[in-house]
Amino acid sequence: MSRGNRPDYALTRRGTGDGTRWYALEPQEALSQIGTDPRKGLSQAVASDRLSQDGANELAEPPPKSVLRMLWEQITATTVVVLIVAAIASALLGDFEDALAILAIVVFNAVLGFTQEYRAGKEFAALRKMAVPKARVLRDGEWQQILAREVVVGDIVQLEDGDQVPADCRLLESTNLRTQEAAFTGESESVEKQVAKIDGQDLSLGDRRNMVYMGTVVTYGRGRGLVVATGMDTELGKIADSIQSVESEQTPLQKRLDQLGKRLAIAALALVALMFAIGLARGGNVEDLFLTAVSLAVAIIPEGLPAVVTIALAIGSRRMLKRQALIRKLPAVETLGSVTTICSDKTGTLTENRMTVKILALAGEQVELRESFAEITSRLDGNKSIFRPGDGVPLSAPIALTLGGSALCNNALVKEDEDGKDKALGDPTEIALVVAADRLGLSKEELEVLLPRVAEAPFDSDRKRMTTIHQWGDRQGWESSNVGKLVLSLVKLPNAPYIAFTKGAIDGMLEVSTRIWDNGQKPLDANMRDRILQDNDRLASMGTRVLGVAFRLLDELPPPGRELEVEQDLVMVGLVGMLDPARPEAKTAVQTCNAAGIRTVMITGDHPLMARTIARDLEIATNDKYLTGQQLNQLSTEELEQQVGEVSVYARVSPQQKLKIVEALKNRGEIVSMTGDGVNDAPALRKADIGVAMGITGTDVAKEAADMVLLNDNFSTIVAAVEEGRVIYDNIRKFIRYNLTGNVSGVVLMLLAPLIAMPLPLRPIQILWINLLADGLLALALSVEPAEKNVMQRPPYPPGESVFSRGVGRDIVWIGILMGITFLGFGYWAWSTGRPNWQTMVFATLAFSRIWLALAMRSEQRLLARIGLLSNKPMLGAVLLTFGLQMLVMTLPVLQRWFETQPLTGVELWACVGVSTIGFWAVELQKLVRKWAGQ
Ligand code: ADP
Ligand code: MG
Repeated sequence: MSRGNRPDYALTRRGTGDGTRWYALEPQEALSQIGTDPRKGLSQAVASDRLSQDGANELAEPPPKSVLRMLWEQITATTVVVLIVAAIASALLGDFEDALAILAIVVFNAVLGFTQEYRAGKEFAALRKMAVPKARVLRDGEWQQILAREVVVGDIVQLEDGDQVPADCRLLESTNLRTQEAAFTGESESVEKQVAKIDGQDLSLGDRRNMVYMGTVVTYGRGRGLVVATGMDTELGKIADSIQSVESEQTPLQKRLDQLGKRLAIAALALVALMFAIGLARGGNVEDLFLTAVSLAVAIIPEGLPAVVTIALAIGSRRMLKRQALIRKLPAVETLGSVTTICSDKTGTLTENRMTVKILALAGEQVELRESFAEITSRLDGNKSIFRPGDGVPLSAPIALTLGGSALCNNALVKEDEDGKDKALGDPTEIALVVAADRLGLSKEELEVLLPRVAEAPFDSDRKRMTTIHQWGDRQGWESSNVGKLVLSLVKLPNAPYIAFTKGAIDGMLEVSTRIWDNGQKPLDANMRDRILQDNDRLASMGTRVLGVAFRLLDELPPPGRELEVEQDLVMVGLVGMLDPARPEAKTAVQTCNAAGIRTVMITGDHPLMARTIARDLEIATNDKYLTGQQLNQLSTEELEQQVGEVSVYARVSPQQKLKIVEALKNRGEIVSMTGDGVNDAPALRKADIGVAMGITGTDVAKEAADMVLLNDNFSTIVAAVEEGRVIYDNIRKFIRYNLTGNVSGVVLMLLAPLIAMPLPLRPIQILWINLLADGLLALALSVEPAEKNVMQRPPYPPGESVFSRGVGRDIVWIGILMGITFLGFGYWAWSTGRPNWQTMVFATLAFSRIWLALAMRSEQRLLARIGLLSNKPMLGAVLLTFGLQMLVMTLPVLQRWFETQPLTGVELWACVGVSTIGFWAVELQKLVRKWAGQ
């Protein structure tokens, strides 16, 4: 369309770069300088042009971890260094074949580790991309939601409470807009913004009150801004280099495994020394001893472990995504498995967040709206119009004021789109009010024409109310509008230039109200207060969310920024009760949690009686105890810590109190997951072990602070993610058991052989090969093992628990030793009966034994015969491949030379396979014994 913008644009582009003082221009000047139509925004064509010209609106990311760097890390891993030293040593000693073979294994090992890490990293980066922020922009005269990275200079963007500012903007409109600019100024208090131009040279960022910057967040109010810089041209981009830090987080498990690795390295060193000593005492060959000792040390250390953990976590995050849980921080996958308490919001998470106004309580009467929830929602989704006057309910002055007021003091939009369908946008609570008002003939659209909004004090979850101020004026022309006539005929209010409507939680509303409307204004006496509180309790214990509506006539507008002062001396008109049904799947999920030893805690800003009713429906609490935010504030830290052990319902809670609850639970040693959606929830989300943000209703700020985002806002998704987390942890434990048991058997074999005057049964290269086989395909296949049957029927493992607890350590030792001794006996027999290929027989037996171990270790409780070979197909593939590779090494002449193997007869091969099963039987037997013992 208007590609004529381009020359201008090129000019201003240069201007942006060298720092046009946008703050010193009037909004109009800024708009015309950039060439944006204030009513239509940019055209899509111009926007696409600019996007390709300037590039995406994002910071240049530091290269994640270069391929070279990853390779280098693999090469410099301790074990690999040891191997390289061994290779050099054998080369120096003249054994070039051994040296080459060892180097080949080193390369394999490095490639294996590298590809695993690379793939895991890639996959996770792709997942993270899904959590990118969005922005609302005006293009071709329509508001649309686009990815923040597609915002271009000249776009007009909408900014709302909880949004991340998508780019640097000159403000065009501001309604109490406040942003938090700590990233630039270090000041955590949010700053009030303005539209008017500011004169001055070289104002600091903090003083440019009419500008908002990428990387800051809107903490309050609303506004519109004109984008003047994007991507690396923004102020954030300019300092990006200095703040970019690659955070590489280690999970608790990874930390513990690191420690384990170090201990094993020390053990390996001690073993090497021991081997050497024994060998020398027996007058062995120093070279041979050296090589064997080194390869043994390498064999003991589970090199595959870091890769397996990373892969398992990445696979876990992919599985979680399939179940609508987006992981933002990889360690969360593992922590999820140990969650002991899930704190959840009520509205939208445990309930459907589809409100319907059911009941109105007014001073003189009570009105029930009988239409069912299903009827209303089906109409919202379907073709039929919700706009339908009257409904058998006679419209009276209090009803008109209550519903009309709540439709005006309201940011929801219910409109008919081109196809005649009704589309509802906004907070479900507010949509319900607009719909209810509409049904009684008070269309929000028409009301807003008669009573235009001129100022407001937005909702926040601390105050739990909001206020809008409207022009009331002389009511000229009202007679020509149906709604106008309706209102005039009903509501006889004194003339005043402005009228303010406030809606919010009753308890707070009563504090700021002094009068009540009952066919005229009357003082709000103690009697009336009692009645209202009783009504409130009654409606709440029916499970409805109750909002009070009040108004106040004003002679003049409050000065900008002081709109809150209007919230006093209000006239209460009525109570609205609306129903929000519990999600059916939430109940099942709560039951799953109970079975899994996880406590569910409900936290809500709503009335305690309502909270309790819903909690009872969902069977969250075993008792009727609840705490309100106010009560919570009066408790000492110790008292609170004691209370949170019993109380599962928290009502009228503010975000700061959420933080307190998290802290108290954590102090009790719980692993806490906490949900949140608002800006103020961020601290609690960060504090929790698992911060969970709502994907649909959540603000950017909450998502940014969270470890996990629920794409469907559904409580049961958290439970599903916990389940996946447990599976991952189980699989990592299985790998450790499998890997270390095998390693112990090898070490026992090699250590004991010299003691019974036998030559060393395995060549160094053979030890390394087995190590490689075991850490490769079989290990990976274990990490995709499906869930054990009882994952969600056992209590969570204590978070600090060692991976060796629950008998794992004991099993590794005894099964490892049993296997080692059996293989030694088998080898001794083959050797003493004079078979020239006796070493190959031991080699084959050891290699096969890893396959059997992997199969047996697939489940901790159930026999392989029970779970079946087909329940983990990758494992089946890994088994066949591993077997094939081992056969190749023993039969292919080239490889035979390298691996120093000799051919086996069919009978010998079968003997090896038979003996190699010993570990398998031991593990299976153990499962049976444990079952009989009822453990
Ligand atoms: P929840 O924790 O269940 O999401 P909220 O913090 O959203 O609760 O709401 C807490 C209380 O604030 C509600 O009980 C209601 O009284 C009031 N409230 C909620 N939404 C609005 C709104 N849009 N306008 C006015 N008051 C509201
Ligand atoms: Mg809410």
